[in-house]
Amino acid sequence: MPGQLVINPRKAAVSLRIVIVGGGIAGIATAFTLQRAGHNVTVLERTDGTARSQGGLRSPPNMTRVLNHWGLGPQLAKLATKCPQFVFNEPNGEMMGLVQLHEDFLVDLMASFVFIQHGDLQSLLLGLAEREGVEFRYNASVSSVDCDAVSVTLASGERLYADLVVGADGPASLVRNEVVGEKITGYKDGHLSLTLAIPTELMREDEDLRPLTEDGNWWVWLGPCTLIHASLVNGRKAFSMVIALQNVPQEILDQYDESWDTSYPIEHFGIDFSTFDIRVQKLMKLVRQVTPTVHIRRPILESCVCDRARIVIVGDAAHPLVPAGQHNAGVSIEDAETLGALFSRIQHRSQIPRMLAAYEEIRQPRCSYAQDWELRKRTMMSAPLGPEQKARDAGIRRMTLYSDWEHIDEKRFMEMWGDEMEMFSHFATERVDDWWTKWGSLLARDTGKPEVPLTPTVEVSISSGQQRSTFVY
Ligand SMILES: Cc1cc2nc3c(=O)[nH]c(=O)nc-3n(C[C@H](O)[C@H](O)[C@H](O)COP(=O)(O)OP(=O)(O)OC[C@H]3O[C@@H](n4cnc5c(N)ncnc54)[C@H](O)[C@@H]3O)c2cc1C
Repeated sequence: MPGQLVINPRKAAVSLRIVIVGGGIAGIATAFTLQRAGHNVTVLERTDGTARSQGGLRSPPNMTRVLNHWGLGPQLAKLATKCPQFVFNEPNGEMMGLVQLHEDFLVDLMASFVFIQHGDLQSLLLGLAEREGVEFRYNASVSSVDCDAVSVTLASGERLYADLVVGADGPASLVRNEVVGEKITGYKDGHLSLTLAIPTELMREDEDLRPLTEDGNWWVWLGPCTLIHASLVNGRKAFSMVIALQNVPQEILDQYDESWDTSYPIEHFGIDFSTFDIRVQKLMKLVRQVTPTVHIRRPILESCVCDRARIVIVGDAAHPLVPAGQHNAGVSIEDAETLGALFSRIQHRSQIPRMLAAYEEIRQPRCSYAQDWELRKRTMMSAPLGPEQKARDAGIRRMTLYSDWEHIDEKRFMEMWGDEMEMFSHFATERVDDWWTKWGSLLARDTGKPEVPLTPTVEVSISSGQQRSTFVY
């Protein structure tokens, strides 16, 4: 591509046959990193692969940084919306507080907080994976997985064998049951997320709504048991909203599941918005379809790799987060980068178990933390009226005082933002590099076979312009 200095990534010394179950965000991203690392990857996806969700995804700096590293910066500049600030409102629209994402803060984190439509991200990742040569098989529903034989069986009866199977089959994963050795069950815990998107051309007609189509803010309304958050996506052509409800009665939850397959008109949900901000009321009049997704709370897993160390789970299959949160896609992208970076260093098939052990050591604490973080934040942000809600609102008002970056009190800032910084500052690529510096030579020696020198990590083809791997959006 003209104007680019392309750095070719490291290739593994042995090419593995890898089958990935599930072609969602986690499956496609993992297919890309593993194929790019020199392996032969096939993705099995049960749908026909044509559907594109209009809903928005949050891409915090930890995720944007990896997407930039994959060369997607220019596409993000077109399709994603860079967030300058989070604006917190009372349900009636009165501003409670705001947090600016100051440029200096983002420079330290080396990437922006952006919003991107789920369907746009899926198409971008698909483009990367297809360019690397990943084989995609659609209408290919997997009905069972065998850890001993390292195989998957399709609903059609066809069986595929591999060196490694990756389960990226979402929150209701069947691969997870094989990895854990039992059926993992959960329960509907009262959280229900309603996802919708409104074309911004409909909003521009209205003087109350027009400003929402112009800034890139993360708009948040905090009502009793109701959190509404919204942002611009799809090159600012759509305003994506999530209405996150807490303490939803069981008989209502029973009507829905955790998939993203079904939509209803907003009236179906019978929510009274009459006490809400006039902007929310007007937005609800423009909504056509809403996708409900329940949260099924499951135990946090101790392991994401099967006993025979040939099957690994990634994304929502391994660590389902409360739907439509801040980090659902981000941790999946981190999984993909971690697995690809480790398997780009493999030299013998015999090292697969060690690589998976490394993956688990790196990812398990991070993903467990993310699962806990997301549920804590969702519960707090959609709290009913009471002491927790009062403490939350006071915290948001205090946080606003610390939005003057020039005169920030670092200690107070970390008290308020320590949790977020823990999530935002992670860079999956560096984490693998650090792990490898410490343990990589031991791992290579442990195989008892001569170490194959790794291929050069940097090969340069120059035209002009910016260095792709360091493009920061
Ligand atoms: C259609 C869809 C739309 C979504 N839209 C939004 C949104 O607007 N906003 C948001 O915040 N999050 C959305 N999500 C959820 C979000 O993608 C995830 O939380 C996160 O990105 C992690 O993705 P994942 O790939 O691990 O899981 P998922 O996104 O659930 O993907 C799992 C994939 O595996 C496939 N699959 C499952 N079982 C099998 C099987 N047996 N054989 C073969 N394939 C199988 C599924 O069809 C799916 O494509 C959506 C998910 C889906 C599936």
